[in-house]
Amino acid sequence: MEQSRNKNKTKTKIVCTLGPSTNSLSQVKALIENGMSVARLNLSHGTIDDHKNSANLVRTASKDLNQPVGIMVDIPGKKYRTGDTKPKDIDVKLHSHLRLTSADVIGSAEIIPVKPPGIHLDAKPGKIISIADGLVKVKVLEVSGKEVICEAITPGSISQGRGVNVAGIIPTGDFLNETTDIAIRFAVEHNADFIAISSVGSASHVESVKEQLSKHDINPAIISKIETAEGIRQFKSILGVSDGIMVARGDMGVEIDLSEVPTTQKQLIRASNIAGKPVITATQMLESMISSPSPTRAEVTDVANAVFDGSDAIMLSGETSIGKYPVESVAMMSKVALEAEKALPYESILVEKRAHMEHQTDDAIAYNSCQTAYQLNADLIVAFTESGSTAARVSKYRPRSEILALTPSLETQRRLTLIWGVTPVTTLPVKDVNDFFRIVKEESNKSPAINSDGLVVLVAGLPIGVPGGTNMLRVMSV
Ligand code: PGA
Ligand code: MN
Repeated sequence: MEQSRNKNKTKTKIVCTLGPSTNSLSQVKALIENGMSVARLNLSHGTIDDHKNSANLVRTASKDLNQPVGIMVDIPGKKYRTGDTKPKDIDVKLHSHLRLTSADVIGSAEIIPVKPPGIHLDAKPGKIISIADGLVKVKVLEVSGKEVICEAITPGSISQGRGVNVAGIIPTGDFLNETTDIAIRFAVEHNADFIAISSVGSASHVESVKEQLSKHDINPAIISKIETAEGIRQFKSILGVSDGIMVARGDMGVEIDLSEVPTTQKQLIRASNIAGKPVITATQMLESMISSPSPTRAEVTDVANAVFDGSDAIMLSGETSIGKYPVESVAMMSKVALEAEKALPYESILVEKRAHMEHQTDDAIAYNSCQTAYQLNADLIVAFTESGSTAARVSKYRPRSEILALTPSLETQRRLTLIWGVTPVTTLPVKDVNDFFRIVKEESNKSPAINSDGLVVLVAGLPIGVPGGTNMLRVMSV
């Protein structure tokens, strides 16, 4: 079956977190058909068997629909979470007292277990603890043995597995531990295309995950989740050793002052754009759609603004993992992103990005392909790419024309699912230059972006088949 090329696909890539709401083949297919490019498996929740099932569903749905879909394995960070309680949902009333405990107990309305053990060491009287990304806030009154006695200052409902943050405090323990080991092993077994690392606080955190991965035969893109004050402080060096960034607004919103999240988002996106590394804006984008079939005006505006800020990808979390309207959420996200993309000021973006050009051949070719495509109103920029780097470089300049990435590698095709504006397609290996132009013509003509004059801008590296050396720009009529 031919890979279907959807005219209504967004340039901005959509990452959907899978979960109980999306654990059937038909639901995963519906997500793909409505705009999902990358599926996130969040190993902070669910069992390994659940995630195994999700990974298999994604690969099967992707094959059945002949659409590339990346798999992102999200590795839990050092983070406290609520344990089991009876009843499952605990209603916390304003000014009520409750105890958080490091002890391994089944909780109740009065006492809530927090795992892994250690909250009693990090909490001090007067400190504010946020539960469930700040939905509930409690003030520490006293620490007694393994128990932290608190007063609720923001009331709400708590369930199992919600995050528990003592702002500014990094939980005690090593960055790599048994939990991260299990997640990394899972990523290796399932040939993850992306590994997202939670709560990255330094470049050495990223290096330590890379070192573990180097013992195995996979080469996923490493996405650092920036969600703590330390991660923001160390951002420059973290960006340097990462393949991409996630602006993880959930934890960020309780780890730094909530009012600083929007400007931090813009700064992280801008720096990632300049470095030419993909950046994902995440969390609560269409939050109200967890329980409602339509989002708020503020949420759709947030999605559009994330596109205007320069996000390569936007993400759904609870909306698709535990929400009532997973498919409606991704359809809504696609619709809003498409509309925002129509309004992007492509010409001035290109002018502005001139300031950050690198003095090397492949970057010059990438920039000029976008300039040429804009000037000639070309239908497509076709990038022939072994490793994906040629297509990613073109994407960095945010062309108005679609980027058709042709690659002989399935792995490269899947890694390009996160890159803005790129439609990744696999081809047979190229024999010679004539064969190469024939393939470009053939594949371009399958694209719905091709109009009657069929003008494409082609970028590639000659000789064909040698990765890394983009050195050719050609305007072609197909
Ligand atoms: P999480 O990360 O969903 O794994 O917590 C994203 C965030 O914190 O925003
Ligand atoms: Mn987080």
